[in-house]
Amino acid sequence: MDFTLDEKTNAQVLKLHHFIKTELHPLEEKVEVKGELDANLASEIFEKSRTQGFYGMNIPVEFGGGGFNAVQMVYLEQEMGQTTDPLVRRAFGNVYEVLLACNEAQRQQWLLPCVKGERTCSIAMTEPDAGSDSAGITATARPDGDGWILNAHKCPVGDGMFSDFYVVSARSEYVEGSRGISLFLVDRSMPGVEVVRDMPMMGLRGSTHAEIKFDNVKLGPEHLLGERGRGLSLLLSTIGRIRLFHIGARAIGMGRRVLKMMTERANHREQFGKPIGEFQMIQQMLADSLIELNCAHLLVLDAASEIDRGLDPREKVSMVKINSAETLGKIADRAVQLFGAMGYCKDFPLERIYRDCRVLRIYDGTSEIHRMVVSRGLMKKGVEAILGNHLAN
Ligand SMILES: Cc1cc2nc3c(=O)[nH]c(=O)nc-3n(C[C@H](O)[C@H](O)[C@H](O)COP(=O)(O)OP(=O)(O)OC[C@H]3O[C@@H](n4cnc5c(N)ncnc54)[C@H](O)[C@@H]3O)c2cc1C
Repeated sequence: MDFTLDEKTNAQVLKLHHFIKTELHPLEEKVEVKGELDANLASEIFEKSRTQGFYGMNIPVEFGGGGFNAVQMVYLEQEMGQTTDPLVRRAFGNVYEVLLACNEAQRQQWLLPCVKGERTCSIAMTEPDAGSDSAGITATARPDGDGWILNAHKCPVGDGMFSDFYVVSARSEYVEGSRGISLFLVDRSMPGVEVVRDMPMMGLRGSTHAEIKFDNVKLGPEHLLGERGRGLSLLLSTIGRIRLFHIGARAIGMGRRVLKMMTERANHREQFGKPIGEFQMIQQMLADSLIELNCAHLLVLDAASEIDRGLDPREKVSMVKINSAETLGKIADRAVQLFGAMGYCKDFPLERIYRDCRVLRIYDGTSEIHRMVVSRGLMKKGVEAILGNHLAN
Protein backbone atom coordinates (compact mmCIF):
# COMPACT_ATOMS: atom_id res chain seq x y z
CA MET A 1 0.00 0.00 0.00
CA ASP A 2 1.31 3.43 -0.90
CA PHE A 3 0.75 6.00 1.84
CA THR A 4 2.63 8.85 0.13
CA LEU A 5 0.90 12.12 0.87
CA ASP A 6 -0.57 14.32 -1.84
CA GLU A 7 0.74 17.88 -2.16
CA LYS A 8 -2.22 19.56 -0.44
CA THR A 9 -2.06 17.34 2.64
CA ASN A 10 1.69 17.52 2.81
CA ALA A 11 1.53 21.33 2.81
CA GLN A 12 -1.11 21.24 5.55
CA VAL A 13 1.01 18.85 7.66
CA LEU A 14 4.02 21.17 7.35
CA LYS A 15 1.92 24.22 8.23
CA LEU A 16 0.47 22.43 11.25
CA HIS A 17 3.92 21.24 12.36
CA HIS A 18 5.19 24.82 12.27
CA PHE A 19 2.13 26.15 14.13
CA ILE A 20 2.45 23.59 16.93
CA LYS A 21 6.18 24.11 17.32
CA THR A 22 6.09 27.89 17.33
CA GLU A 23 2.71 28.68 18.93
CA LEU A 24 1.85 25.75 21.21
CA HIS A 25 5.11 24.23 22.49
CA PRO A 26 6.15 27.51 24.17
CA LEU A 27 2.86 27.50 26.14
CA GLU A 28 3.01 23.94 27.46
CA GLU A 29 4.94 24.62 30.63
CA LYS A 30 2.88 27.70 31.48
CA VAL A 31 -0.35 25.68 31.26
CA GLU A 32 1.15 22.81 33.26
CA VAL A 33 2.28 25.08 36.09
CA LYS A 34 -0.84 27.24 36.21
CA GLY A 35 -3.26 24.38 35.54
CA GLU A 36 -5.14 26.43 32.97
CA LEU A 37 -4.74 28.35 29.77
CA ASP A 38 -5.23 32.07 30.09
CA ALA A 39 -8.53 33.05 28.36
CA ASN A 40 -6.90 35.75 26.19
CA LEU A 41 -4.19 33.35 25.06
CA ALA A 42 -6.80 30.70 24.32
CA SER A 43 -8.76 33.00 22.02
CA GLU A 44 -5.55 34.19 20.37
CA ILE A 45 -4.49 30.60 19.60
CA PHE A 46 -7.94 29.71 18.41
CA GLU A 47 -8.04 32.66 16.02
CA LYS A 48 -4.62 31.82 14.57
CA SER A 49 -5.61 28.19 14.14
CA ARG A 50 -8.94 28.99 12.51
CA THR A 51 -7.49 31.47 10.02
CA GLN A 52 -4.89 28.91 8.97
CA GLY A 53 -7.61 26.33 8.22
CA PHE A 54 -6.91 23.93 11.10
CA TYR A 55 -10.52 23.82 12.27
CA GLY A 56 -12.84 20.93 11.33
CA MET A 57 -10.26 19.35 9.01
CA ASN A 58 -12.06 16.00 9.41
CA ILE A 59 -15.44 17.37 8.32
CA PRO A 60 -16.60 17.22 4.66
CA VAL A 61 -16.06 20.36 2.58
CA GLU A 62 -19.84 20.71 1.99
CA PHE A 63 -20.22 21.49 5.73
CA GLY A 64 -17.35 23.95 5.78
CA GLY A 65 -14.68 21.49 6.89
CA GLY A 66 -11.30 20.60 5.43
CA GLY A 67 -12.52 17.41 3.74
CA PHE A 68 -9.39 15.41 4.57
CA ASN A 69 -9.88 11.64 4.35
CA ALA A 70 -8.91 9.19 7.11
CA VAL A 71 -5.35 8.46 5.91
CA GLN A 72 -4.68 12.19 5.48
CA MET A 73 -6.15 12.84 8.93
CA VAL A 74 -3.74 10.31 10.45
CA TYR A 75 -0.79 12.46 9.36
CA LEU A 76 -2.46 15.66 10.56
CA GLU A 77 -3.44 14.13 13.90
CA GLN A 78 0.11 12.85 14.39
CA GLU A 79 1.20 16.46 14.35
CA MET A 80 -1.53 17.48 16.81
CA GLY A 81 -0.42 14.67 19.09
CA GLN A 82 2.93 16.37 19.53
CA THR A 83 1.54 18.81 22.06
CA THR A 84 -0.66 18.64 25.17
CA ASP A 85 -4.36 17.81 25.45
CA PRO A 86 -5.53 21.26 26.69
CA LEU A 87 -3.66 23.06 23.92
CA VAL A 88 -4.99 20.71 21.25
CA ARG A 89 -8.52 21.23 22.52
CA ARG A 90 -8.28 25.02 22.53
CA ALA A 91 -6.43 25.24 19.23
CA PHE A 92 -8.41 22.68 17.23
CA GLY A 93 -11.72 22.23 19.11
CA ASN A 94 -13.89 19.13 19.35
CA VAL A 95 -15.62 18.68 16.01
CA TYR A 96 -16.94 15.17 16.56
CA GLU A 97 -18.10 13.12 13.58
CA VAL A 98 -21.23 12.04 15.47
CA LEU A 99 -22.60 15.52 14.63
CA LEU A 100 -22.68 14.50 10.97
CA ALA A 101 -25.86 12.62 11.94
CA CYS A 102 -27.61 16.02 12.34
CA ASN A 103 -30.57 16.64 10.05
CA GLU A 104 -30.66 19.80 7.94
CA ALA A 105 -32.18 22.03 10.65
CA GLN A 106 -29.89 20.64 13.37
CA ARG A 107 -26.82 21.23 11.21
CA GLN A 108 -27.35 24.99 11.35
CA GLN A 109 -27.68 25.00 15.13
CA TRP A 110 -25.17 22.38 16.24
CA LEU A 111 -22.74 21.20 13.55
CA LEU A 112 -21.88 24.31 11.55
CA PRO A 113 -21.06 26.56 14.54
CA CYS A 114 -18.67 23.82 15.73
CA VAL A 115 -16.94 23.62 12.35
CA LYS A 116 -16.59 27.42 12.36
CA GLY A 117 -15.17 27.29 15.88
CA GLU A 118 -17.97 29.41 17.32
CA ARG A 119 -19.12 26.68 19.73
CA THR A 120 -17.67 23.51 21.16
CA CYS A 121 -19.18 20.29 22.43
CA SER A 122 -18.47 17.18 24.51
CA ILE A 123 -19.74 13.64 24.55
CA ALA A 124 -21.48 12.66 27.79
CA MET A 125 -21.83 8.91 27.87
CA THR A 126 -20.12 7.65 31.06
CA GLU A 127 -21.92 7.62 34.41
CA PRO A 128 -20.75 6.91 37.96
CA ASP A 129 -22.10 3.32 37.63
CA ALA A 130 -21.69 2.75 33.88
CA GLY A 131 -18.34 3.09 32.15
CA SER A 132 -17.24 0.10 30.07
CA ASP A 133 -20.83 -1.10 30.04
CA SER A 134 -22.17 1.83 28.05
CA ALA A 135 -25.55 0.11 27.64
CA GLY A 136 -25.88 -0.10 31.44
CA ILE A 137 -26.63 3.60 31.87
CA THR A 138 -29.40 4.80 34.14
CA ALA A 139 -29.96 8.11 32.31
CA THR A 140 -33.52 8.32 31.04
CA ALA A 141 -35.30 10.33 28.37
CA ARG A 142 -38.98 9.95 29.16
CA PRO A 143 -41.31 10.75 26.25
CA ASP A 144 -43.26 13.92 26.99
CA GLY A 145 -45.66 15.17 24.31
CA ASP A 146 -43.60 15.23 21.13
CA GLY A 147 -40.37 15.67 23.13
CA TRP A 148 -38.57 14.26 26.14
CA ILE A 149 -37.70 14.82 29.79
CA LEU A 150 -34.02 14.06 30.38
CA ASN A 151 -32.58 12.91 33.70
CA ALA A 152 -28.92 11.96 33.81
CA HIS A 153 -25.74 12.09 35.84
CA LYS A 154 -22.64 12.03 33.62
CA CYS A 155 -18.95 12.04 34.48
CA PRO A 156 -16.23 12.50 33.55
CA VAL A 157 -17.04 14.59 30.49
CA GLY A 158 -13.84 15.60 28.71
CA ASP A 159 -13.62 19.37 28.05
CA GLY A 160 -17.03 19.59 29.75
CA MET A 161 -16.29 22.85 31.61
CA PHE A 162 -15.64 24.63 28.29
CA SER A 163 -18.38 23.06 26.19
CA ASP A 164 -21.41 24.96 24.97
CA PHE A 165 -23.44 21.80 24.46
CA TYR A 166 -23.35 18.06 25.09
CA VAL A 167 -24.22 14.92 23.15
CA VAL A 168 -25.91 12.93 25.92
CA SER A 169 -26.80 9.22 25.86
CA ALA A 170 -30.02 8.23 27.67
CA ARG A 171 -32.45 5.34 27.62
CA SER A 172 -35.57 6.36 25.73
CA GLU A 173 -37.19 2.94 25.32
CA TYR A 174 -37.55 0.18 27.83
CA VAL A 175 -35.92 -2.66 25.88
CA GLU A 176 -32.96 -4.76 26.99
CA GLY A 177 -29.38 -3.89 26.05
CA SER A 178 -27.91 -1.39 23.65
CA ARG A 179 -31.16 -0.86 21.74
CA GLY A 180 -33.39 1.68 23.43
CA ILE A 181 -30.64 4.25 23.99
CA SER A 182 -30.90 7.56 22.13
CA LEU A 183 -28.59 10.56 21.77
CA PHE A 184 -29.68 14.10 22.60
CA LEU A 185 -28.18 17.48 21.81
CA VAL A 186 -28.37 19.48 25.04
CA ASP A 187 -27.35 23.08 25.39
CA ARG A 188 -25.46 23.88 28.56
CA SER A 189 -27.69 26.91 29.17
CA MET A 190 -30.93 24.88 29.28
CA PRO A 191 -32.84 24.86 32.58
CA GLY A 192 -31.96 21.76 34.61
CA VAL A 193 -28.38 21.43 33.33
CA GLU A 194 -25.92 21.73 36.20
CA VAL A 195 -22.17 21.54 35.64
CA VAL A 196 -21.27 20.40 39.15
CA ARG A 197 -17.47 20.45 39.15
CA ASP A 198 -14.22 19.84 37.34
CA MET A 199 -12.92 16.42 38.44
CA PRO A 200 -9.24 16.51 39.41
CA MET A 201 -7.14 14.10 37.32
CA MET A 202 -3.65 12.57 37.57
CA GLY A 203 -2.49 14.45 34.48
CA LEU A 204 -3.80 16.48 31.54
CA ARG A 205 -3.44 19.65 33.58
CA GLY A 206 -5.30 22.52 31.93
CA SER A 207 -7.95 20.22 30.46
CA THR A 208 -11.29 19.89 32.22
CA HIS A 209 -13.33 16.79 33.06
CA ALA A 210 -16.80 17.77 34.19
CA GLU A 211 -19.38 16.12 36.38
CA ILE A 212 -22.75 17.14 34.99
CA LYS A 213 -26.32 16.61 36.19
CA PHE A 214 -29.34 16.86 33.93
CA ASP A 215 -32.40 17.30 36.12
CA ASN A 216 -35.77 17.10 34.33
CA VAL A 217 -34.38 18.88 31.27
CA LYS A 218 -37.23 19.48 28.85
CA LEU A 219 -36.19 18.63 25.30
CA GLY A 220 -38.14 19.15 22.08
CA PRO A 221 -38.10 16.60 19.21
CA GLU A 222 -35.40 18.67 17.52
CA HIS A 223 -32.94 17.63 20.25
CA LEU A 224 -32.91 13.96 19.20
CA LEU A 225 -29.72 13.16 17.27
CA GLY A 226 -30.06 10.32 14.76
CA GLU A 227 -32.60 7.54 15.05
CA ARG A 228 -34.60 7.02 18.22
CA GLY A 229 -33.36 4.01 20.20
CA ARG A 230 -30.25 3.57 17.99
CA GLY A 231 -28.02 6.14 19.70
CA LEU A 232 -25.47 3.75 21.08
CA SER A 233 -24.73 2.14 17.72
CA LEU A 234 -24.50 5.63 16.16
CA LEU A 235 -22.09 6.78 18.85
CA LEU A 236 -19.98 3.63 18.71
CA SER A 237 -19.79 3.73 14.90
CA THR A 238 -18.49 7.31 14.90
CA ILE A 239 -16.38 7.04 18.03
CA GLY A 240 -14.12 4.64 16.09
CA ARG A 241 -12.71 7.64 14.26
CA ILE A 242 -12.01 9.40 17.57
CA ARG A 243 -10.11 6.31 18.70
CA LEU A 244 -8.18 6.16 15.47
CA PHE A 245 -7.29 9.85 15.28
CA HIS A 246 -7.33 11.22 18.83
CA ILE A 247 -5.69 8.20 20.40
CA GLY A 248 -4.08 6.09 17.65
CA ALA A 249 -2.50 8.84 15.58
CA ARG A 250 -1.88 11.36 18.36
CA ALA A 251 -0.09 8.78 20.51
CA ILE A 252 2.26 8.05 17.62
CA GLY A 253 2.91 11.77 17.20
CA MET A 254 3.84 12.07 20.87
CA GLY A 255 5.91 8.87 20.58
CA ARG A 256 7.92 10.50 17.79
CA ARG A 257 8.54 13.58 19.90
CA VAL A 258 9.70 11.45 22.84
CA LEU A 259 11.93 9.27 20.66
CA LYS A 260 13.58 12.38 19.21
CA MET A 261 14.33 13.53 22.76
CA MET A 262 15.73 10.09 23.62
CA THR A 263 17.95 10.01 20.53
CA GLU A 264 19.32 13.46 21.22
CA ARG A 265 20.05 12.56 24.84
CA ALA A 266 21.68 9.24 23.89
CA ASN A 267 24.03 11.11 21.55
CA HIS A 268 24.97 13.92 23.92
CA ARG A 269 24.79 12.71 27.51
CA GLU A 270 28.19 11.28 28.45
CA GLN A 271 28.92 8.86 31.29
CA PHE A 272 32.06 6.77 31.80
CA GLY A 273 33.73 8.94 29.14
CA LYS A 274 31.33 8.19 26.27
CA PRO A 275 27.82 8.99 25.06
CA ILE A 276 25.25 6.79 26.81
CA GLY A 277 24.00 5.77 23.33
CA GLU A 278 27.10 3.60 23.06
CA PHE A 279 25.86 1.32 25.85
CA GLN A 280 23.97 -1.67 24.48
CA MET A 281 21.16 -1.45 27.02
CA ILE A 282 20.43 2.12 25.92
CA GLN A 283 20.63 1.03 22.28
CA GLN A 284 18.00 -1.62 23.00
CA MET A 285 15.67 1.05 24.40
CA LEU A 286 16.10 3.12 21.24
CA ALA A 287 15.77 0.22 18.82
CA ASP A 288 12.68 -1.26 20.51
CA SER A 289 11.03 2.16 20.61
CA LEU A 290 11.63 2.76 16.91
CA ILE A 291 10.37 -0.71 15.92
CA GLU A 292 7.22 -0.39 18.02
CA LEU A 293 6.55 3.14 16.82
CA ASN A 294 6.82 2.15 13.19
CA CYS A 295 4.52 -0.86 13.68
CA ALA A 296 1.97 1.38 15.43
CA HIS A 297 2.23 3.92 12.59
CA LEU A 298 1.56 1.27 9.94
CA LEU A 299 -1.33 -0.22 11.90
CA VAL A 300 -3.12 3.10 12.18
CA LEU A 301 -2.61 3.81 8.47
CA ASP A 302 -3.90 0.36 7.59
CA ALA A 303 -7.12 0.89 9.59
CA ALA A 304 -7.54 4.41 8.16
CA SER A 305 -7.15 3.16 4.59
CA GLU A 306 -9.92 0.58 5.21
CA ILE A 307 -12.19 3.40 6.39
CA ASP A 308 -11.39 5.35 3.22
CA ARG A 309 -12.30 2.25 1.19
CA GLY A 310 -15.73 2.17 2.84
CA LEU A 311 -14.99 -0.84 5.06
CA ASP A 312 -15.77 -1.13 8.78
CA PRO A 313 -12.42 -2.13 10.38
CA ARG A 314 -13.90 -2.45 13.88
CA GLU A 315 -11.30 -4.92 15.17
CA LYS A 316 -8.42 -3.00 13.59
CA VAL A 317 -9.58 0.23 15.24
CA SER A 318 -9.58 -1.59 18.59
CA MET A 319 -6.12 -3.01 17.78
CA VAL A 320 -4.94 0.55 17.07
CA LYS A 321 -6.49 1.86 20.31
CA ILE A 322 -4.72 -0.81 22.38
CA ASN A 323 -1.43 -0.74 20.50
CA SER A 324 -0.92 3.02 20.20
CA ALA A 325 -1.79 3.62 23.87
CA GLU A 326 0.51 0.84 25.08
CA THR A 327 3.33 1.74 22.68
CA LEU A 328 3.43 5.34 23.85
CA GLY A 329 3.29 4.13 27.47
CA LYS A 330 6.32 1.89 26.91
CA ILE A 331 8.29 4.56 25.06
CA ALA A 332 7.53 7.22 27.69
CA ASP A 333 8.62 4.81 30.42
CA ARG A 334 11.91 4.03 28.64
CA ALA A 335 12.46 7.75 28.07
CA VAL A 336 12.15 8.52 31.78
CA GLN A 337 14.68 5.75 32.44
CA LEU A 338 17.07 6.94 29.72
CA PHE A 339 17.00 10.50 31.08
CA GLY A 340 17.58 9.34 34.66
CA ALA A 341 16.94 12.08 37.24
CA MET A 342 16.06 14.55 34.49
CA GLY A 343 13.36 12.17 33.28
CA TYR A 344 11.75 12.28 36.72
CA CYS A 345 12.23 16.00 37.24
CA LYS A 346 9.55 18.55 36.41
CA ASP A 347 12.15 20.79 34.74
CA PHE A 348 11.72 18.59 31.72
CA PRO A 349 8.46 17.69 29.84
CA LEU A 350 9.00 13.91 30.07
CA GLU A 351 7.56 13.61 33.55
CA ARG A 352 4.35 15.26 32.31
CA ILE A 353 4.19 13.16 29.14
CA TYR A 354 4.65 9.98 31.23
CA ARG A 355 1.71 10.96 33.47
CA ASP A 356 -0.50 12.26 30.66
CA CYS A 357 -0.23 9.20 28.45
CA ARG A 358 -1.40 6.82 31.19
CA VAL A 359 -5.02 7.70 30.51
CA LEU A 360 -4.85 6.47 26.91
CA ARG A 361 -5.27 2.90 28.17
CA ILE A 362 -8.43 3.90 30.05
CA TYR A 363 -10.63 6.33 28.16
CA ASP A 364 -12.56 5.69 24.97
CA GLY A 365 -12.73 2.05 26.03
CA THR A 366 -10.14 0.40 28.24
CA SER A 367 -7.47 -1.90 26.79
CA GLU A 368 -9.35 -4.84 28.32
CA ILE A 369 -12.61 -3.94 26.55
CA HIS A 370 -10.83 -3.44 23.21
CA ARG A 371 -9.07 -6.81 23.60
CA MET A 372 -12.52 -8.30 24.12
CA VAL A 373 -13.73 -6.66 20.87
CA VAL A 374 -10.69 -7.97 18.98
CA SER A 375 -10.95 -11.54 20.26
CA ARG A 376 -14.74 -11.73 19.80
CA GLY A 377 -14.38 -10.44 16.23
CA LEU A 378 -11.62 -12.95 15.59
CA MET A 379 -13.64 -15.90 16.88
CA LYS A 380 -16.74 -14.86 14.95
CA LYS A 381 -15.22 -13.76 11.64
CA GLY A 382 -11.87 -15.57 11.47
CA VAL A 383 -8.33 -14.33 10.84
CA GLU A 384 -8.69 -13.63 7.14
CA ALA A 385 -11.85 -11.56 7.43
CA ILE A 386 -9.96 -9.20 9.71
CA LEU A 387 -6.44 -9.22 8.29
CA GLY A 388 -7.48 -9.74 4.64
CA ASN A 389 -7.04 -12.79 2.47
CA HIS A 390 -4.12 -11.89 0.23
CA LEU A 391 -4.32 -15.20 -1.65
CA ALA A 392 -7.75 -14.20 -2.93
CA ASN A 393 -6.43 -11.01 -4.60
C1 LIG B 1 -9.48 11.77 31.50
C2 LIG B 1 -10.76 11.07 31.14
C3 LIG B 1 -11.61 11.64 30.21
C4 LIG B 1 -12.82 11.03 29.88
N1 LIG B 1 -13.66 11.65 28.99
C5 LIG B 1 -14.89 11.12 28.78
C6 LIG B 1 -15.84 11.81 27.95
O1 LIG B 1 -15.54 12.86 27.36
N2 LIG B 1 -17.08 11.28 27.81
C7 LIG B 1 -17.44 10.12 28.40
O2 LIG B 1 -18.58 9.70 28.23
N3 LIG B 1 -16.55 9.43 29.18
C8 LIG B 1 -15.30 9.90 29.39
N4 LIG B 1 -14.40 9.23 30.18
C9 LIG B 1 -14.79 7.96 30.77
C10 LIG B 1 -14.09 6.75 30.13
O3 LIG B 1 -14.51 6.53 28.83
C11 LIG B 1 -14.29 5.55 31.06
O4 LIG B 1 -13.43 5.80 32.17
C12 LIG B 1 -13.95 4.22 30.44
O5 LIG B 1 -14.92 3.87 29.49
C13 LIG B 1 -13.88 3.10 31.50
O6 LIG B 1 -14.99 3.10 32.32
P1 LIG B 1 -14.81 3.14 33.92
O7 LIG B 1 -13.82 4.16 34.25
O8 LIG B 1 -16.15 3.27 34.51
O9 LIG B 1 -14.20 1.73 34.29
P2 LIG B 1 -15.01 0.38 34.57
O10 LIG B 1 -15.92 0.11 33.43
O11 LIG B 1 -15.57 0.42 35.93
O12 LIG B 1 -13.83 -0.70 34.52
C14 LIG B 1 -12.98 -0.95 35.63
C15 LIG B 1 -11.98 -2.01 35.24
O13 LIG B 1 -12.66 -3.22 34.89
C16 LIG B 1 -12.29 -3.63 33.59
N5 LIG B 1 -13.44 -4.25 32.93
C17 LIG B 1 -14.72 -3.77 32.83
N6 LIG B 1 -15.48 -4.60 32.11
C18 LIG B 1 -14.67 -5.63 31.73
C19 LIG B 1 -14.85 -6.82 30.96
N7 LIG B 1 -16.04 -7.11 30.42
N8 LIG B 1 -13.81 -7.65 30.77
C20 LIG B 1 -12.60 -7.35 31.31
N9 LIG B 1 -12.35 -6.25 32.06
C21 LIG B 1 -13.38 -5.40 32.25
C22 LIG B 1 -11.86 -2.35 32.88
O14 LIG B 1 -11.03 -2.63 31.78
C23 LIG B 1 -11.16 -1.61 34.00
O15 LIG B 1 -9.85 -2.08 34.12
C24 LIG B 1 -13.17 9.80 30.48
C25 LIG B 1 -12.29 9.22 31.41
C26 LIG B 1 -11.11 9.84 31.74
C27 LIG B 1 -10.21 9.20 32.75
